[in-house]
Amino acid sequence: MTIDWQREVESRKDELLEKLNAFLSIESVLDPDTAGEGAPFGKGIDQALTYMLELGKENGFSVKNLDGYAGHIEYGEGEEIVGILSHVDVVPAGDGWTTPPFSPDIRDGKLYARGAIDDKGPTMAAFFALKIVKELGLPLSKKVRLILGTDEETYWRCMDHYFKHEPMPVMGFTPDADFPLIVAEKGFLDISLRGEVPSGEPVAEGEDTWTLASFTAGQRVNMVPDLAKAKLVGEGDVFGLKEQYQEFLLSRRIRGYAEEADDHLMLVLEGVSHHGSEPGKGLNAALELIRFLKEKVQLDADGQRYVNFAHRYLVDSFFGEKMGLAQSDDIVGKLTVNAGVFQYEREQSHLVRINVRYPISGDHETILREIDELARPYGLRVEDVDHKAAHAVDKNHELVRTLSQVYEEQTGQQAELLAIGGGTYARALDVGVAFGPLFPGREETAHQKDEHIMVDDLLKATAIYAQAIYELAK
Ligand SMILES: [Zn+2]
Repeated sequence: MTIDWQREVESRKDELLEKLNAFLSIESVLDPDTAGEGAPFGKGIDQALTYMLELGKENGFSVKNLDGYAGHIEYGEGEEIVGILSHVDVVPAGDGWTTPPFSPDIRDGKLYARGAIDDKGPTMAAFFALKIVKELGLPLSKKVRLILGTDEETYWRCMDHYFKHEPMPVMGFTPDADFPLIVAEKGFLDISLRGEVPSGEPVAEGEDTWTLASFTAGQRVNMVPDLAKAKLVGEGDVFGLKEQYQEFLLSRRIRGYAEEADDHLMLVLEGVSHHGSEPGKGLNAALELIRFLKEKVQLDADGQRYVNFAHRYLVDSFFGEKMGLAQSDDIVGKLTVNAGVFQYEREQSHLVRINVRYPISGDHETILREIDELARPYGLRVEDVDHKAAHAVDKNHELVRTLSQVYEEQTGQQAELLAIGGGTYARALDVGVAFGPLFPGREETAHQKDEHIMVDDLLKATAIYAQAIYELAK
């Protein structure tokens, strides 16, 4: 039997866009103020989850709501479950939109709204895909569950709750990233290194010595910081230091300036932000300022220790070389280290936060232990750690083979298997890959103003998902 999946989608286009329009109009942003029993993440997210589950019920599917944390829409028979994992929550709208973010608008073949591509558009595509399979009366030997998460943009508490109460699918995909297929993702560790303060070390004395009063850079551990500031106090030669700083900036072609106030000198350095999965790109403002402080400034003991740690292990070491952590595999490549946040307040807080992304073969406990050992002599130790294990599905797995084949059949393009340093929702599944909805070469607008998806791409994705569901569960 040959099925024209694209035609099946086209004949439901108006209905799909109408339902999606209503779904996108719900402001499903995390809102603790309206959270309560059965709606742990607030009213908007609860409304969006309920909307999808009601739609499922109206279309004759069995549905389940797990205390407002997550839900699923189910079709098919059998012991095994194929999962499709998407989410109904969105990030806050932000400013600068051409049309209101929660009033969907189609212009030049593009559907604009917060959530259009991340992840309400794809959720609706997956729903219509399941609906098509059902309406064609295709026999399935497995159950298919469209699992709806509600906290993907924050802490994934939805998935913790869901999988506490429901079985893990034997395999599945998430329409929450890129086509063709993302089959491998590095593990990652967000590590906070904290100092025991105050140490009571005396302030610096002497003519050419400065005390580091504060050092700050970065707000997010998974971004390259684009601004760093060091506040120095002391009796040193202000003019000489300013001159040296200018020379340093000039020689390294970096932007920045020194600002003199009554009781201190502030050194400001401007870098270039970049995603923390590629820490060597962009320009890490903190590490450049550390380089200057280490090479040119005689600091007090506490300040020196903090600067020395960063200089010894983080400067010029985006692949963990200086910490002895360099490793790679031929699936996702090299381990990376992003030094994302620095907060040093003399006698108050000594903090460095780093984001380590390690290959599939890496061992996170060894990595943590080694970093802790290196940091201790500098008065820092590993405290808070957020860990997500590396994730990979074998390229010969039935899931990967089937989805590749469907993608190639429907697009005429080769289904290149992607391995990334970032993370996708597929990690929530034991055997899961990311599969669309962003096609190669398309502009990435998730989390940005004027987020959109091309309407034709949305329909194409729906057709691909419909065939994928059928092939995986038949
Ligand atoms: Zn998403």
